[in-house]
Amino acid sequence: MAGMRRIDNVGGLPLHEDGSAPPLRVNDLIQFLTDRKRSTKCPHCDWKGGWEIAMQDAADNDEEQGETANPCLQIFRTESLCGNLHTSTAVICPNCGHFGQIATYKLRQWKLGKETGDE
Ligand SMILES: [Zn+2]
Repeated sequence: MAGMRRIDNVGGLPLHEDGSAPPLRVNDLIQFLTDRKRSTKCPHCDWKGGWEIAMQDAADNDEEQGETANPCLQIFRTESLCGNLHTSTAVICPNCGHFGQIATYKLRQWKLGKETGDE
């Protein structure tokens, strides 16, 4: 169907986080949202002040690497009826509570493209 694509594990990436890769962090998400030109306006209300990000407590992070200023993202699991597991992270509207999920495999694809790019 035109304009429709099947969700796929493009590039051999799993659709869900399985803990085998370094954790996704807040700075990854912010850079991804910026690169993809994702709006900071809420699609459901008149909020324009940016998103809250689902992040883990600093205590959960690897303080040895001084990463407390860049916390790991909270990862949510969604399982389909046929058993496919997807993971996502989330941005939340501070005004109306709209909870927007972002598939982690898109973040992984983006990171791979970045890491193999011309840096
Ligand atoms: Zn809102």
